[in-house]
Amino acid sequence: MKDMMSMMYKPTSTQTCPKCRKRSKGNRLRRAIIDRNHHVPEIAGYNMDGSVLYIDKRLPATMAGVDVDSALEVHEEVENALEYRLGFSYPHAHMMAEAAEQCFVEAHGGNWAAYDKEMQAWIKKLENNYDKSEVPEDLINPNEVKGK
Ligand SMILES: [Zn+2]
Repeated sequence: MKDMMSMMYKPTSTQTCPKCRKRSKGNRLRRAIIDRNHHVPEIAGYNMDGSVLYIDKRLPATMAGVDVDSALEVHEEVENALEYRLGFSYPHAHMMAEAAEQCFVEAHGGNWAAYDKEMQAWIKKLENNYDKSEVPEDLINPNEVKGK
């Protein structure tokens, strides 16, 4: 039998997936607002109550033709759910979140190797290079949360 998913949705390099958009309207418990107006020491992170996902404003909007905010949102949401709802350790949650991010990138027509190479270069460039006054005050510092 032919795969229903591939019949219903043909991935393209466009930024919005009709399936994701449709799903985002109803099936989530809550969805964080994406804020792109700050520096974020670890590229992306939530505020205290989880209502805002901050993504560093210097990060490009697209990589390998894929919408970066959407891909990072998948990573962060999956990571959060695995770590805080299901009790996985951060390294495991992160690993699975990265796999989900890869699925998202490829489903949207992006080349994972190209996307990841560009993302890693930006992480290297931005990680320890931020203006403290640009960092949101209510950003959760994951290292503090974990007590490490
Ligand atoms: Zn992660």
